[in-house]
Amino acid sequence: MRQWARLVLAVWLCVAAGAAAGCGTSRAGEPADGRIRAVATTGMVADLVRNVGGGRVAVTALMGPGVDPHLFKASEGDMARLQQAQIVFYNGLHLEGRMGDILEKMARDKPTVAVAERIPEELLLMAEDGVPDPHVWFDVSLWMLAVDIVRDSLIELDPAGRSVYEQNAAVYREELAELDRYARAQLNTVPAGRRVLVTAHDAFGYFGRAYGIEVRGLQGISTATEYGLADLRQLVDLLVERQIKAVFIESSVPRSSVEALVEGAAARGHAVAIGGELFSDALGAEGTPEGTYAGMIRHNVDTIVAALR
Ligand SMILES: [Zn+2]
Repeated sequence: MRQWARLVLAVWLCVAAGAAAGCGTSRAGEPADGRIRAVATTGMVADLVRNVGGGRVAVTALMGPGVDPHLFKASEGDMARLQQAQIVFYNGLHLEGRMGDILEKMARDKPTVAVAERIPEELLLMAEDGVPDPHVWFDVSLWMLAVDIVRDSLIELDPAGRSVYEQNAAVYREELAELDRYARAQLNTVPAGRRVLVTAHDAFGYFGRAYGIEVRGLQGISTATEYGLADLRQLVDLLVERQIKAVFIESSVPRSSVEALVEGAAARGHAVAIGGELFSDALGAEGTPEGTYAGMIRHNVDTIVAALR
């Protein structure tokens, strides 16, 4: 093929494949606009990197609204995005249970940061089998530690941006400190006897520990393990004995499991309402308040408080 024909073909392929394929690259691994190209797994991690990275970092989230990270498998497009990233952020602690090998492979080529795994171990919750609970974002004060981890990782990759990352991290930490106070104050308005949060899976352990609410999930800390009839019966017993008013569905878990709880309680003569939808392992739709981490936490707090108070 002649030189000019090759060029035309290359340009055409770029237009067809779009920016995600890495066209318009000025230097290897750098977007044409000079921003750092970061890929994050969950929406929560992506939002964190966006807040700290500001205008210096272009962030792509692999998992959209309603996507369950425990069950998520990377597509070919996701693999391409990971390969073209200069830095990869993920939650870790096996939240992304089916991406372990891929993330390990990425770590050989580029900074690949598991934010939850850099939180001091003594602050983590352990499940019954000694496995750490990965849902650290539900304790806002723990997520503030993740802000520092992202800041330091970006500074290491892009030292010229140090002052920007430090400034952004400080501002965002303030916002999260305010959010932490809000959550605590709101949940304190629920009478102590009614502070029981029943959901589809055990995502809210850190939330319960931080804000003083007992949490019970039908499935364990991973949705990869199915629940059994014994789990269902135990939770129905709890609903009936404690006269719990409401249970909650999760945006990233099918609602049928929670509906089974409502039916089970009804069969025993106890009416339980569905208190609303919580965002547990995924953010809400982009452009809505729940499409950000802070909005997601606020939505959950308000929904829980309204249903249980
Ligand atoms: Zn989960």
